[in-house]
Amino acid sequence: MNTFDLDKTYVAPTYRRFPVEIVSGKGSLVTDVNGKEYIDMGSGIAVTSFGVADDAWIAAVEKQIHSVQHMSNLYYTAPCAKLAEALCKRTGMAKVFFSNSGAEANECAIKIARKWAAEHKGPACSTVVTLVNSFHGRTLTTLAATGQDHFHELFQPLTPGFASFPAGDMEALKQLCAGGTVAAVLIELVQGEGGVIPLDPAFVSELAAYLKEQDILLMIDEVQTGNGRTGSLYAYMQYGLQPDVVSTAKGLAGGLPMGATLMSEKVKDVFSYGDHGSTFGGNPVAAAAALSIVERLTDSLLADVRRKSELIRSLLEGAPGIESVTGLGLMLGIKTVKPASEVLAACRENGVLCLTAKDKVRLLPALNIPDELLIRAVEVIRAACSI
Ligand code: PLP
Repeated sequence: MNTFDLDKTYVAPTYRRFPVEIVSGKGSLVTDVNGKEYIDMGSGIAVTSFGVADDAWIAAVEKQIHSVQHMSNLYYTAPCAKLAEALCKRTGMAKVFFSNSGAEANECAIKIARKWAAEHKGPACSTVVTLVNSFHGRTLTTLAATGQDHFHELFQPLTPGFASFPAGDMEALKQLCAGGTVAAVLIELVQGEGGVIPLDPAFVSELAAYLKEQDILLMIDEVQTGNGRTGSLYAYMQYGLQPDVVSTAKGLAGGLPMGATLMSEKVKDVFSYGDHGSTFGGNPVAAAAALSIVERLTDSLLADVRRKSELIRSLLEGAPGIESVTGLGLMLGIKTVKPASEVLAACRENGVLCLTAKDKVRLLPALNIPDELLIRAVEVIRAACSI
């Protein structure tokens, strides 16, 4: 059997895969099993921060693999400690818990909120509020946090203690908080899976001020927006926020599974021995990879992400068949006249891999995609959108 048939026979059919089998790549170019080359405008859904088979990333991973690939969290390993230091120094946060995915990073954030609130406000204060149209993961608890009912329907009962309100509706939030049972609010600053929709900075400022006044934790889900994706190390930095908790994953280790939950001074001592754990969390290979990524997210690289974002926008905005371009940095959503799936198929045909988010075409290219490839890909996208 070929890979398509093997996969269809033996892999649970939870993904609607595109009919492409990728076998190799370098940077922002990937090659399929038939030798056809594509410009990758999705980077594994914001994971391969510096592209596929990036030399510096390979060197960091290889070096660590030859030393020790795994111990356990019962021992100290340097990459984990150094990565935690780098993340804290770059963000001003105080401690980090490492896991393996975005959902786990959010699970950890939720556990922090519950324990912090139980200790400071009493056990009845356990609700975590999120936004309508949010996405926080696929575990039963992060599904409960996800403010989109259609994800919930088949998997009842979900973890209790969640509520959501529409972005911008402070009155709805105040009503939810009126009973004194809200421990934390968890938000994405750009709703990724929800259609690449950035939150209004005025609403975010008002929200942050209200939560501070009420002593409710502000937790930012930077799973997709984090690690340079939006043109700052974390998107909250562009919104002028000081979050209590930040969760991240995806691009952090550039292609190896890693989640991280960053804790501010206020909550850094919430966890003690045995409160949380993960066999693979902080694994030395993933941590070495992540350290190499974080070290490369320099001010000039971040400025270049913003410049590339403007370049894409200038080429797409107002083009025939394109209604709007939304997003931040290299996390962009294109509302097209044609169905997004048709645009993607035409792009694939012409050697460009894109993603969708709801009804939009979504672009999440590698942060270092060369201008020449970016312009070529955008021209293909433009042509595919035109009616
Ligand atoms: N949070 C956000 C904002 C996401 O975009 C995602 C995944 O798309 C997740 C959480 C879940 O991450 P993971 O698939 O790594 O569990």
